[in-house]
Amino acid sequence: MNRITQCLHGRGTVSAVMRHRKAGNGDVPASLLAFTSMYRPVVFWNVTDRCNLACTHCYNASGLSSTGEGELSTAEACTVIDDLARTGVPLIIFTGGEPLMRPDLFELARYAEARGVKTALSTNGTLISPEMAGRIRDAGIGYAGISLDGATAATHDRFRQSPGAFDRSIAAFGACKDAGVRTGVRVTLTKENSAELGALIELALRIGASRFCLYWLVPCGRGAAAYNRLQLGPGEVTGALSLLYRKAKETDPAAMEFLTVDAPQDCVHLLSAMEEDKSADLDDARSLLASLKGGCSAGTRVANIDASGNIWPCQFARSPEFCAGNVRDRPFSAIWQDSTIPALALFRNKDVLFSGRCGDCRHRILCGGGCRVRAHATNGDFFAEDPFCYTGQS
Ligand code: SF4
Ligand code: SF4
Repeated sequence: MNRITQCLHGRGTVSAVMRHRKAGNGDVPASLLAFTSMYRPVVFWNVTDRCNLACTHCYNASGLSSTGEGELSTAEACTVIDDLARTGVPLIIFTGGEPLMRPDLFELARYAEARGVKTALSTNGTLISPEMAGRIRDAGIGYAGISLDGATAATHDRFRQSPGAFDRSIAAFGACKDAGVRTGVRVTLTKENSAELGALIELALRIGASRFCLYWLVPCGRGAAAYNRLQLGPGEVTGALSLLYRKAKETDPAAMEFLTVDAPQDCVHLLSAMEEDKSADLDDARSLLASLKGGCSAGTRVANIDASGNIWPCQFARSPEFCAGNVRDRPFSAIWQDSTIPALALFRNKDVLFSGRCGDCRHRILCGGGCRVRAHATNGDFFAEDPFCYTGQS
């Protein structure tokens, strides 16, 4: 995760992070969740594979044909939450599929809240009526990340393969705002929507989103089949990053925060833009990024549990060799702390054997070798270079 706003406007963030680390296992402030420790990861939990849409790039390959068979039961999910709470996990992000299709979602959220674990939602937004937004708030869910893949209905609905999805998602932002639930825009930028990035940012500001979170495509699920057709080239990526940088600089950080996800090399672009700008925050930003020891949090500060209880280093790392175990066989905490598990050892010690451009790259300490899921999916080799990397190519 590349926290553009925090680096650009975040004087004092570094000392806050360091203070938090010294404080040990206490509550993690929302602004510092990216800096939690390896053993207390933020957990992305695909609570269901069911979904009312069937988006072209869905990493989980969810859709109406998913039946929910094999999903963890309510009792099993509560046992997992007990374990996550004991582990000190600061945040569970309920995702899917469409998490709101799981009838016991609010029961799980309240169960987590009662055990001191914060919860958030990653949703397509189409099921969020004013009444549903109230239930989200009442279940203690403090934040909803809502997907928007276009600034127009035509683009968004084509991606989501559902006429009317755009209008329903836009209405969801309003419903959440009225209910007092913070929202963020989640956009996956591809060849089909990159021309709308500026308009999407303006739209996000208009509908009161507090975060603009840009995802790059990862070849996983249906995203794998669409990858070559949809992935942006180096010039398009750096153009989009420059636009985000400009917008993040102009925008009041209290109004909206800008982030990019799944391309740790984005920090290279950010630092060089700040250097060019002679930013007073440059040294702070460097220390902040260095404290993350490589931008990818898979297998360390981030964990994923899928609908049937399998544990993965991140929600996109779904090749069979990346499976760390299943909560039905062994508690999450025991699996996560077992560094002998090959999948976890691989992601936690990944920087020893990089090859290709990542092997001798001067940015490697900050970037950590980009995205290993992309490297593995493209080259069949976990240690190969990240093919998405645009540094020095545009
Ligand atoms: S492995 Fe790739 S997709 Fe997973 S968290 Fe890291 S950068 Fe993101
Ligand atoms: S070449 Fe590899 S290590 Fe260097 S910036 Fe790109 S992804 Fe990161």
